[in-house]
Amino acid sequence: MLSYQHIYHAGNLADVQKHALLAGMLSYLTRKDKPLTYLETHAGRALYDLSDAAAEKTGEARQGIDKVAKWFAPDHPYRQVLEDLRETHGPRAYPGSPLLAAKLLRPDDRIHLAELHPQEHSALDLAMSPYPAKCHLSDGFEMAFALTPPTPRRGMLLIDPSYEIKTDYETIPRQIAKLNRAWNVGIIALWYPILTNRAHVPMLDTLTASHPDALRHEVRFPPARPGHGMVGSGMFVINPPYGLETEAQNLTARFATLTQQES
Ligand code: SAM
Repeated sequence: MLSYQHIYHAGNLADVQKHALLAGMLSYLTRKDKPLTYLETHAGRALYDLSDAAAEKTGEARQGIDKVAKWFAPDHPYRQVLEDLRETHGPRAYPGSPLLAAKLLRPDDRIHLAELHPQEHSALDLAMSPYPAKCHLSDGFEMAFALTPPTPRRGMLLIDPSYEIKTDYETIPRQIAKLNRAWNVGIIALWYPILTNRAHVPMLDTLTASHPDALRHEVRFPPARPGHGMVGSGMFVINPPYGLETEAQNLTARFATLTQQES
């Protein structure tokens, strides 16, 4: 039974970190005139309305993208997609990762997205209908195993689980190792929460030991609500593209201003 719905969290500070790094990676990859594949295991609905009661209820976007959009220069790909989307869908629209990818990729690139929740999948299918993307109603890792190595071989996989199943922290390193063996040139990016109960720590220790050249980027931010267990977010990127380190450093400096304001 899936209960997680990303609309409650869309545009929060974790999304800002993940989406800014994703936009940076895709923008770098599309500089080369060679087609690529974009795979995503946990796609969500792609198009979010931040004026939706669910988003308003948590107020996470107000502490997130509403507050920090100005961090990004007008020519930053994340900001460009956000503004482009708002021109057609209104000032409270927010792009999930599949829409970021669709807007930054080119007609010859391939996009495969998995979403297991039937309603989220229907919304995803509708949001992605103007783009050449295939939306699979399936388990994300099953889709990824079936499609790797993909054609074109160049490209990336985003893994953005909701961590509803507690064993995810144990199983993900093995699944990533298997995907990396099947697609050794592919960029594999995993998003994870930084939790006060440290549930993410053994997973990161295992990943770091197995992939010592990966880029690990973590930011801290004030919890969404007092006592909330998530106090930051991370991205673990195998085969990080050139330029990602600089993007990550810029984000680190910007997020540091949030925790400085707190103390
Ligand atoms: N990646 C999206 C973004 O950044 O815009 C957000 C995705 S949200 C964190 C996680 C999504 O994974 C939810 O929509 C949930 O329904 C879906 N999901 C949960 N378990 C899944 C599974 N085993 N396979 C595919 N999707 C799953």
